Amino acid sequence: MKIVAVNLEGNGTFAQDVPALAETIKASGAELVLLPGTSRAKRSAAAAAMRAGAEIDTNVVDLEVVDGKPVARRWVYRQRIFTAFSRAARPWVIVTDPSLFGEICAKVGAETVPFAAATGATRTTVNGVENAGTGGESTIKPDAKLLFVAGAGWTKKQADGALHFEEAAETITGFLGRSGASLGSSKSLVDMPEAAAAFKFMSHMNQVGQTGSTPRHAKGLSTCCHGEEPHVVGWRFVNDRRAVNLDANCGWAQGKADVVYVADAFAVMKKVNELLG
Ligand SMILES: Cc1cc2nc3c(=O)[nH]c(=O)nc-3n(C[C@H](O)[C@H](O)[C@H](O)COP(=O)(O)OP(=O)(O)OC[C@H]3O[C@@H](n4cnc5c(N)ncnc54)[C@H](O)[C@@H]3O)c2cc1C
Repeated sequence: MKIVAVNLEGNGTFAQDVPALAETIKASGAELVLLPGTSRAKRSAAAAAMRAGAEIDTNVVDLEVVDGKPVARRWVYRQRIFTAFSRAARPWVIVTDPSLFGEICAKVGAETVPFAAATGATRTTVNGVENAGTGGESTIKPDAKLLFVAGAGWTKKQADGALHFEEAAETITGFLGRSGASLGSSKSLVDMPEAAAAFKFMSHMNQVGQTGSTPRHAKGLSTCCHGEEPHVVGWRFVNDRRAVNLDANCGWAQGKADVVYVADAFAVMKKVNELLG
């Protein structure tokens, strides 16, 4: 297996480094390309890998080749879990912790290839500006007064023993359309593969919480979400908090919300949508 190490020496802007690095990756003919995770390398590596048709992983702290298969290791989930992983795609660009770059290159016998940043004037031409969250289908609207948060309860079996994915999706999007609220989600909901087909309007970008975002809307309404601490920490800049939950002992009721409606969110939001017209 051909493994090369690329050291970005000297200076280079993003616009200069990306094409040069992409060319270096392609020209090396290597299966694995190692880069040190300096701020300069991290700025350009992902874009260069994409241009070179390579896949990329960053923050790698160890690499070994076991029976011809490269195995990388890195910490995930805010350094709580140490993972070992591999990729079938080649070339595979591996950005290591900068202090471990030399050690990892020596361990796998990487051959150093020269890198020269492109020179010359490179300027981006601005064609226009579009504010975040105002585009057609976007559900993330940082300027909205209200943050509407959907939790995994929308995908749980309801009182009739059945799942109501379509009704849930329709109720949520119906409310967003009528109110102009921004959409947040709990981690459980965005991580749920079975919900992905019905909840196309939502992605990991909507996740609020410790490992998600910390939005700053004046008001927040949480529905079908339990109000667990790792989720609620993401609400710390939302001043007026309300929640709808079937469970009178949910996390929100334990001092995390100003008002908790112990009710069925399907029924409540259906009525709210009717009232909004
Ligand atoms: C290190 C770490 C980091 C984490 N980071 C995050 C994070 O950033 N963001 C995050 O969200 N989570 C995070 N979590 C996960 C978090 O702890 C919870 O597991 C998650 O937030 C639970 O999601 P949920 O409330 O949507 O689902 P559930 O816990 O399944 O709760 C569903 C709720 O829906 C209610 N419900 C069901 N049907 C109805 C109905 N018809 N009407 C009203 N209520 C109904 C139920 O009573 C229940 O309370 C993290 C966990 C860890 C360990």
